[in-house]
Amino acid sequence: MSDLSPGRFMIGPDSRPAFTRYARLHEDRARGRSVALAPERAYELDPIGVIVLSALDGRISVRDLSAQLAEKYAAPVEVIARDVTTLLQGLADKRLLREGPDPFSAPARSLFSRSITRHDGGPAGLLAELTHRCPLQCPYCSNPLELERASAELTAEEWGETFRQAASIGALQLHLSGGEPTARRDLEDILAYAVEAGLYTNLITSAVLLTKDRLARLADIGLDHVQVSIQDIVADNADRISAYDGGVAKKYDVARWTREFGLGLTINAPMHRQNIAHLPQIIDFAVEVDAQRIEIAHIQYYAWAELNRAALIPTRETFMETVEVVEAAKKRLLGVLNFDFVIHDHYASRPKTCTGGWGQSILAVTPSGKALPCHAAQTLPGLIFENVRDKPLGDIWRDGAAFNAYRGIGWMKEPCRSCDRREIDFGGCRCQAMAVSGDPAATDPACALSPDHARFAAFAETESQAPAPAFIYRRYGGASMT
Ligand code: SF4
Ligand code: SF4
Repeated sequence: MSDLSPGRFMIGPDSRPAFTRYARLHEDRARGRSVALAPERAYELDPIGVIVLSALDGRISVRDLSAQLAEKYAAPVEVIARDVTTLLQGLADKRLLREGPDPFSAPARSLFSRSITRHDGGPAGLLAELTHRCPLQCPYCSNPLELERASAELTAEEWGETFRQAASIGALQLHLSGGEPTARRDLEDILAYAVEAGLYTNLITSAVLLTKDRLARLADIGLDHVQVSIQDIVADNADRISAYDGGVAKKYDVARWTREFGLGLTINAPMHRQNIAHLPQIIDFAVEVDAQRIEIAHIQYYAWAELNRAALIPTRETFMETVEVVEAAKKRLLGVLNFDFVIHDHYASRPKTCTGGWGQSILAVTPSGKALPCHAAQTLPGLIFENVRDKPLGDIWRDGAAFNAYRGIGWMKEPCRSCDRREIDFGGCRCQAMAVSGDPAATDPACALSPDHARFAAFAETESQAPAPAFIYRRYGGASMT
């Protein structure tokens, strides 16, 4: 393990825990509940959890806190101590607590969020694609083939209004994404609007444009969390995949600055056949730079990734090796590094719950203001996407035809319609159903019950064994080269 990593924080009677800079209690007024806000998550708390976590200040010990609660509620102190320790150990293992007060302070409470009224059923997260401009050219980029131009981008003020509207219908998490969001010269203004709206802010970046001064400014404004995407940790290969030289060194810098400023850090590593052999080194990198989370996601094949599928798809054997590597690392790194592992659809037997269910959990807004139920939704035919410039976000979310097209279960065909998992995975990914079956209402072919599953798995086996063709790089007008 690296020198930077603090190791697992074991909660005992003498521990004096406090929230880290990037985790905090939050009143989710839209849903009438309290949550602990953390990278990519909002943990719902019961009343006892709120009382315990409100008391954490890095000074009071678990022993004294348990004794106080036992007296106040006339309960056996050993029972209270056990429950408090279990709650705190769970949060410590997510790297949301630290021993002693955090020298960095979390952003001040937003005045705007105090005015939010009840709104059940709104989105929990907003993916804000601030720009499609990006200095990298990853061949699996999830941006559409028709990239939007800078001249069409929403202004900082328009983003600010979008954030306020999103928060007022229940959004808690904001993902500032792209393209490369730091390509926006007014990112500081955009972030200030997000903090003012009371959103938990996550900057998703390739890191190559960030300077230490700029990251310090963003931290001062109130940025909570940085997600650094990596193409590979082996420099030559990363340069080749991204068509950009010198990215790895910048990612080391930005990851270290992120932790230096007390912000949360996730390493995001899309997996495919051209970097899969280096997964153990990528995990080591995440530990070395003291990330709390790593996302290891086998890519999905739509948009640019679909164009490059034969160059990216791994063999079943190499995919299975990643499962073993991740399972072993999870055990070894308990309380040090948290894993989000997205398996490879072609070698799965059931699909993922894509976007938490269509129109149920997240919404995405493109650089020019189009509101989408999923960031890849523009690959589906026949949907009309409304624009935040023209209509309130709440109306688009609730009544928009695109949001209602595949919401819930009413649109389903067999075998999903009568399946007992229909309200668990909601039939999987609509974009993948379209890409493989040619029908956006079909069962996701990742599901073994789909009539297209065997064909879907078979072409993965065939393509992954053949020599990889050259990449078609993601760039303006690049898709027309095919
Ligand atoms: S995937 Fe690569 S090309 Fe696409 S936005 Fe991210 S860094 Fe840029
Ligand atoms: S049939 Fe549909 S609902 Fe059932 S597991 Fe497969 S994708 Fe999910």
